Amino acid sequence: MSFRAGRHGFEEYPAGGTLLELSADVCVIGSGAGGASVACALAEAGMSVVVVEEGRNWKPQQFQPSASWAFKQLYAGRGTRATRGNCVIPLAGGRGVGGSTLINSAICFRTPAPVLAEWRERHGCEHFDDTWMNACFDRIWQAIGVTVQAPEVQGDNNRVFKRGADALGMPGQWLARSAPGCTGCGTCNQGCPTGGKLTVDRSFL
Ligand SMILES: Cc1cc2nc3c(=O)[nH]c(=O)nc-3n(C[C@H](O)[C@H](O)[C@H](O)COP(=O)(O)OP(=O)(O)OC[C@H]3O[C@@H](n4cnc5c(N)ncnc54)[C@H](O)[C@@H]3O)c2cc1C
Repeated sequence: MSFRAGRHGFEEYPAGGTLLELSADVCVIGSGAGGASVACALAEAGMSVVVVEEGRNWKPQQFQPSASWAFKQLYAGRGTRATRGNCVIPLAGGRGVGGSTLINSAICFRTPAPVLAEWRERHGCEHFDDTWMNACFDRIWQAIGVTVQAPEVQGDNNRVFKRGADALGMPGQWLARSAPGCTGCGTCNQGCPTGGKLTVDRSFL
């Protein structure tokens, strides 16, 4: 059986144990922030790429503003995933085409220059120079639609916080987010129901 290029869910996979064989230059396992951006870069470089994702391919209108629904449907281990070892640390993460970007808050920071300097000087990462990294950030931020939202969609808690900071003369700015069409409904962690958050299934992939 062969698949045309595009997205395919398990529903299309033939029942009865037929083996699906696909050929590509590269197979990327996992379609989250890392996998999707790597797949995009490889495809742009002219390679054929297959991305394999264990979770479902969701559409924004399928998301429900309910924590229990989201944990069950969108979170790895139904929201109970934790680190292994001698102490238990909860490790939330997404499961679906788009990975954790389906459920994250889309807040975007650039690695600060002093941190890049530390990586270069203490950890030998010479290629992380400010100019090169800023060019990478520019490109990525454009692809994932990073903007600062208008105060109207910031949410009451944020507006109160900002008003307080302004009154005290403290510096404070709205966060940049990969959510150019955000309507401020506040359910980012349960899947963005409007598509206003630009998750990597809809940007890089
Ligand atoms: C609730 C929450 C809020 C967050 N908020 C922010 C934020 O505001 N700003 C920010 O910068 N970061 C945020 N993050 C973190 C950010 O989303 C992650 O760091 C990032 O998505 C990690 O990318 P990744 O590719 O490593 O993994 P993921 O994005 O988690 O993708 C991994 C994918 O691989 C799939 N997979 C795993 N194993 C297999 C397998 N064997 N076969 C097939 N598929 C597999 C999974 O199903 C998943 O879809 C948040 C995370 C969470 C959970």
